[in-house]
Amino acid sequence: MDASLKPSLPAQPRAFAFHVGGRAVRRGDRDWCVRVSPAHGVEVTRVPACTAADVDAAVAAARRAFAQGIWSRLPGSERAQVLLRAAAGVRERFEELAYWETLETGKPITQARSEVLASAGYYEYAAGVARTLSGDSFNNLGEGMFGLVVREPIGVIGLITPWNFPFLILAERLPFMLAAGCTVVAKPSEFTSATTLMMAEILGEAGLPDGVFNVVTGYGLPVGQAITEHTDIDMVSFTGSVATGQRALAASASNIKKLGLELGGKSPQIVFADADLEAAADGVVYGICLNAGQCCVSGSRLVVEEGIADAFRDLLVDKFSRVRIGDPLDPATQMGAIVTEAHQNKILGYIRSGVADGARLACGGGILDGDGWFITPTLLEGVRSDMAVAREEIFGPVLTMTTFTTPDEAVAIANDSVFGLAASIWTKDLDKALDTMRRVQAGRMWINTTITGGPELPIGGSKQSGNGRETGVYGVEEYTELKSVHIALGQRTPWVQ
Ligand code: NAD
Repeated sequence: MDASLKPSLPAQPRAFAFHVGGRAVRRGDRDWCVRVSPAHGVEVTRVPACTAADVDAAVAAARRAFAQGIWSRLPGSERAQVLLRAAAGVRERFEELAYWETLETGKPITQARSEVLASAGYYEYAAGVARTLSGDSFNNLGEGMFGLVVREPIGVIGLITPWNFPFLILAERLPFMLAAGCTVVAKPSEFTSATTLMMAEILGEAGLPDGVFNVVTGYGLPVGQAITEHTDIDMVSFTGSVATGQRALAASASNIKKLGLELGGKSPQIVFADADLEAAADGVVYGICLNAGQCCVSGSRLVVEEGIADAFRDLLVDKFSRVRIGDPLDPATQMGAIVTEAHQNKILGYIRSGVADGARLACGGGILDGDGWFITPTLLEGVRSDMAVAREEIFGPVLTMTTFTTPDEAVAIANDSVFGLAASIWTKDLDKALDTMRRVQAGRMWINTTITGGPELPIGGSKQSGNGRETGVYGVEEYTELKSVHIALGQRTPWVQ
């Protein structure tokens, strides 16, 4: 369709089946998770509310597929072919994928389109790694010994994803698991399952053998919990909040499974006085308005040098007032909806708490009239690091502003957080940029830009933002197990005399 036209709402809600063993599973009598578009207030999709027994069936299918070696023992070149065909399938269906992503998440259609197209690149990149993944050899162990380090797929992986970037987060993980030779049982968020189920179809059409990718839909309890507790799952990749990540960590003790955790953040935007202030203000506004501030890496804590703070605040207030907020199906919209009414209320509560604690509301704090849940971009100035708004993940378009006078103080404020997911630095001084980069605790950093990336570089967090890394070559290695092999050469010296 013409990308400048506004698509209509669907004539009726779309009902999806879940996906086990290469089959779409439909059952007439099942409970549903009903999704109301957060921007329009009408039902758009429904997916089955699966049970722990459904998880068992999916894990059995994934285990069977893994044990048969129909995927794990294929040459990397053949796995790569499937991933490349899947990427082509994503590109062919990108408009449809973006449409349902927008309806379920409330994110602008233009943003959803670029996320879907970017996602195809992750399948293409992982295809390359499937062909180059290798182990190591040791020829330095003396004449009588040779060593090998062999990489093997970990096995069956449980993949639990959140609602904020359903398709992109899937793309940052799934193709890397598949490139390693693993089989997968995925559980998307109960709010946003459509595009994960569509990906199962696309992978099937691309030639992925039955049972290699399974999708069980439904709520965290019982479905997510059953995955993290399951004793026949070898690893869980969990992306979501710290609180649920802690539950996943406890549940993973059942069989000591490996657990990758990609959790929340409270990422600083450090702005030095010598920065290009127009560019920095634009980046800071983008970093908190993208996805209505509902990004794990949203730049939600502005840490700005005292001498330019007032001028910088004025730039921000002006730019915030010009962000186009509203119907995400309208291609002109830049900022869409908040995921649920409950989450909107939680964000508004944080804004009130910030003001009660002594912060000043420089702009925003309002909601839009009409259907759906929208919060205007909000700036709280005069925020101290001990306030809840500076410490907790608000997950909405709310920027806190704190000032510093020395680079040491900037680093101290940036690191005064239980999170360590991401950080941005704005300065024209390369020495200052690199020195600050080295001292700030974060898994992802940006200098004179923010929230950008691609499949090549690894992503992940430190401190309570999680562990493990996704994407890049590391992203495939994460889903492999190392096996070391000593090979004796020549005559054995007898032990038994
Ligand atoms: P959430 O923790 O509520 O849910 C995440 C997933 O876990 C969902 O699929 C949910 O159904 C499932 N779940 C719920 N209870 C469970 C349980 N007991 N056991 C297993 N699974 C369970 O998070 P959310 O609200 O969907 O997403 C927002 C959070 O995700 C934010 O904190 C955000 O920072 C974080 N996030 C992190 C990253 C990252 O890469 N670090 C990326 C995106 C989002």
